[in-house]
Amino acid sequence: IQQIDSQAHAALLPTNTPLATALSHALTNSAAQGLPPITISPLQGQYLAIQAQLISARRVLEVGTLGGYSSIWFASSGAHVTSLEIDAHHCAVAVENVQRAGYSDSVDIVLGDAMDTLPRLAAAAAGAADGKDSQGLFDLVFIDADWDMQVEYFAWAVQLVRPGGCIYVDNAVRAALEQGAAKETLVDRVGGMEGVQATLVSVVSGHKGREEQMFDGFLLAIVKEKGGA
Ligand code: SAM
Repeated sequence: IQQIDSQAHAALLPTNTPLATALSHALTNSAAQGLPPITISPLQGQYLAIQAQLISARRVLEVGTLGGYSSIWFASSGAHVTSLEIDAHHCAVAVENVQRAGYSDSVDIVLGDAMDTLPRLAAAAAGAADGKDSQGLFDLVFIDADWDMQVEYFAWAVQLVRPGGCIYVDNAVRAALEQGAAKETLVDRVGGMEGVQATLVSVVSGHKGREEQMFDGFLLAIVKEKGGA
């Protein structure tokens, strides 16, 4: 698997482009400043950038910025990104990395607990629906923060995504495997939620030189029209 993974990275990922340089700098600078190596993988970033283009995403919301690696991938798809981060040091490093990538105008990083920021974004979106001058809904929400809050983040995401938009939850399978006995997880809950259709896509993560191959999977959901089946 590791060999196939390396071949796929070599064959499919951009090299010698401004984006490749920016992504590589983001990883190196984040490591130099002590951030943990817990970004999405390069191929996952490429998948998300393609997914954003498939739905012509103009506005992306991200829960969990770290050093802005996934934010840069989303910005490369042409979308505007609002990214939520609780840790001030992560936030500062992300601002640097995004600036170096040339995406300062298309990425806003909001410092604070996502559970405080998400209700504010939902109130702003409701204001926009009432015709007030405020922010509207998002085309895509990417959830990649603390696993034990996936259910809560997902519930806010459903409110914040336009009909026909999508929600991607990283590590939903590992969160279910590791926490399933202790509490009801997003995988347990999502099938019964109104207004969304969701599936799980299995992945084996073997990147970043990890010796161990890990079974995992992400959850991908589409938000339906209000009142739709
Ligand atoms: N999406 C990033 C990437 O691929 O480049 C990786 C994000 S990392 C897995 C998770 C991040 O979520 C960490 O930086 C952590 O500080 C942040 N986080 C954890 N709890 C949070 C919360 N309650 N609100 C906002 N951010 C949170």
